[in-house]
Amino acid sequence: MSTSVKNGLQNVRAAIEHAAAANGREAANITLIAVSKTIPAERIEEALAAGQRVFGENRVQEAKAKWPALKARYPDLELHLIGPLQTNKVREALALCDAIHALDRESLAVTLAKEIARAGRKPKLFVEVNTGSEASKAGVAPADADRFIETCRERHGLAIAGLMCIPPLGEPAAPHFTLLAKIAERNGLALLSMGMSADYEEAIAHGATHIRVGTAIFGTRA
Ligand SMILES: *Cc1c(COP(=O)(O)O)cnc(C)c1O
Repeated sequence: MSTSVKNGLQNVRAAIEHAAAANGREAANITLIAVSKTIPAERIEEALAAGQRVFGENRVQEAKAKWPALKARYPDLELHLIGPLQTNKVREALALCDAIHALDRESLAVTLAKEIARAGRKPKLFVEVNTGSEASKAGVAPADADRFIETCRERHGLAIAGLMCIPPLGEPAAPHFTLLAKIAERNGLALLSMGMSADYEEAIAHGATHIRVGTAIFGTRA
């Protein structure tokens, strides 16, 4: 067990180096978020022992159960909330997380603005774009993205750092990565959270600055 997380990380890091070099990019400009949802703390410890410091969880409740103890021991670790966020969980999320990847509606922007001011925290904020316009998926529609970003900035005073997407299953991801990069560029956003275990190398080719990788590091989730 203990070598497998380490090996998974080594393989992913090597692939990042390779994809970065192939696209004339610096691997240092690509943040690997190790997605640890459903993964127990012992396995997370293996990743920490292998030097990994940036992690992603998709539920606030689960993050609360696992991360305060780990954060106390590893003050330099960074936790990203990559899943949907309910407004009634914003305070807890901000207390624990350094980045929020699924800002996708004005009610959430309002609550985030209020709680960020109250807590004096400066989380990295990503607007989620539903690039595949899937009814089942969170995220703002591509056609509404510019206006939503402006609303977050101008009306709610939020510093938006970048964009995030989850391409539809079973479709080539590249057009979705291209679309996200285009929306980011015309809105002056530097960060792109895109690419998972199956497609992070392709995401790097399209400019990803943050890749969210679970299975390729920790193995198949139960
Ligand atoms: C689970 C999850 C991931 C990681 O998926 P893998 O295929 O295991 O790499 C990435 N992003 C989000 C939003 C997730 O929920």
